[in-house]
Amino acid sequence: MLSRRQFIKLAGSSAGLLVSACQNNLSKPGVRAKVVIIGGGFGGATAAKMIKSLDPSIQVTLIEPKSHYITCPASNWVLADLININSLSISYKALANNYDINLIHQLVTGIDPVKRLVTLNNQQKIPYDRLIVSPGIDFRWDAIDGHNESSTDLIPHAWKAGSQTTLLKNQLHAMTDGGTVIICAPPNPFRCPPGPYERASMIAYYLKQYKPKSKIIILDQKSHFSKQGLFIEGWKKHYGYGTAQSLIEWHSIADNPIIKIDVKNKVVETDFGDKFKADVLNYIPVQKAGHIAQTALLSDDSGWCPVSHQSSESTLHPYIHVIGDSSIHSPIPKSAFAANAEAKSCAFAIVKRLNNEEPIEPTWINTCYSLITPTHGISIAMVYKLNAEGLITQVKGAGGVTQKTDKQSLALEAGYAKKWFSSITSDSFA
Ligand SMILES: Cc1cc2nc3c(=O)[nH]c(=O)nc-3n(C[C@H](O)[C@H](O)[C@H](O)COP(=O)(O)OP(=O)(O)OC[C@H]3O[C@@H](n4cnc5c(N)ncnc54)[C@H](O)[C@@H]3O)c2cc1C
Repeated sequence: MLSRRQFIKLAGSSAGLLVSACQNNLSKPGVRAKVVIIGGGFGGATAAKMIKSLDPSIQVTLIEPKSHYITCPASNWVLADLININSLSISYKALANNYDINLIHQLVTGIDPVKRLVTLNNQQKIPYDRLIVSPGIDFRWDAIDGHNESSTDLIPHAWKAGSQTTLLKNQLHAMTDGGTVIICAPPNPFRCPPGPYERASMIAYYLKQYKPKSKIIILDQKSHFSKQGLFIEGWKKHYGYGTAQSLIEWHSIADNPIIKIDVKNKVVETDFGDKFKADVLNYIPVQKAGHIAQTALLSDDSGWCPVSHQSSESTLHPYIHVIGDSSIHSPIPKSAFAANAEAKSCAFAIVKRLNNEEPIEPTWINTCYSLITPTHGISIAMVYKLNAEGLITQVKGAGGVTQKTDKQSLALEAGYAKKWFSSITSDSFA
C-alpha cells in the first residue's frame, strides 16, 4: 500500500506529466488549443468573446441549446409592463460571427474529465484542452412537499426568464382587484439577491395603477435581504409600506420555513402550520448549480461548485473551470455582472496558461441595480480582490449602496439601471 507521502509524490508527478504532455501537444506547429464552453448565458458568452479577443488562435466552441438567450435582468420590468419580453431576447449570431466562435446548438449530456471530452444530446463528442462550465442554476425540486417541476405550469417561479415570466405576467393581469399575490423568496445562496424585492416593487407598481385593492405578501426564508433599507424606504414612499393600506407586506419566515405547497389551491404551509392562500403564487424554489455541473460531479455537498478563485478551475476536476451562478465565488453574489466578471478573469487565466505565461492577479466588480418605480432606482456595488490565502475579499472603501435619496438622484439611478442593462448585454453578447 502507498503511504500518503508516496501517493502525493506520485500524484504530483503524474499531474506534472499530464500538464507537460498537454503543453507539448499544443506547442506543436499548427496545433490550436481547444477551449469548449458549456452554456451561452452571461458567463459562457462573455468567456467565449474574451478568449477570442485575447488570443484569436485559440479554437473556441460555445455549446448552448437555445438559438436565442432571454435575459433575466430586466425581466421583472416586464411584469410592470415597462418593456416587452421580446426585447430581452438576444441572438447568438453577432457573437459567433464577430469573434469566429464555433457555435453548437445542443445540450451537453456528459463530461469525461479524463479523456477531456464532452458528449452532446446527439451523441457527438467534442474534445477540449480546457473546458468552461457556465450552466446557471437548477432548482431543488425535492425541497418541499407537494411541489415539483410540473407545478410551475400553475405557480410560475419566473426565475429563468421566458415563458415563465409571461405566465406570471398573464396571471397578474387575470387577477381581480383585491387579490393576493404571494412571493416566496428563497434562502441563500440564490441567483440575484435583490431580485425578489425588485419583483415585488414592479408588481406593486402595476397593481397600484390597475388593481389598487390588492396586496403582495413576501414570505422570506431569510431574516435580512439585499438593499433592505433602500427597498423599505422606497416602498414607504410609493406603496404605503407599514400602513394598513400597504400594497406590500414583508414577513421573515427564517425560523418557520415553508414545508408544503397545495399547488391546485395555491396554499403555502409553513413548519408551524401557518397557511397562506394566494390568488397568484410566485414560489421561487431553493437553488443549486446547473444540472450538468451536478451530473459531472463538479458540485460539492452545498450543491454549488468549488473553484480556485485565481483561475475558476474546479477543485474537483482539473482542466475544467466553473463560472457564473453555478460556481462558488463567495462573497461575490450570483449575478449577471458577476458572471461577466468571473468569465473575464477565467479567460485571462486560461489564455495565460495555454501560452505558458505567468497568471495575473484577478479582481472583480459587481453592481446590481433595482427599480422601485420607473423613476426610482437603487443600487449596490462592490470591488473584490484575492487575499494572501487565495480567498476573495471586498476591497475596503470601494462600493456601497445608493447614498443620495432625493428625487433627482433616484431618477438618475433608474436611468443608470436601464443603461447598465444595454451595456452588460452588449459587453457579453455583441
Ligand atoms: C428576475 C431576475 C432578475 C435579475 N436581475 C439581474 C440584474 O439586474 N443584474 C444582474 O447582474 N443579474 C441579475 N439577475 C441574475 C442573472 O440573470 C444571473 O446571475 C446570470 O444569468 C448568471 O449567468 P450564468 O452564465 O451563470 O447563467 P445563465 O445566464 O442562466 O446561462 C446559463 C446557460 O447555460 C445553458 N445550459 C444549461 N445547461 C446546459 C447544458 N447541459 N448544455 C449546454 N448549455 C446549457 C442554458 O441554456 C443557459 O443559456 C437576475 C435574475 C433574475 C431571476
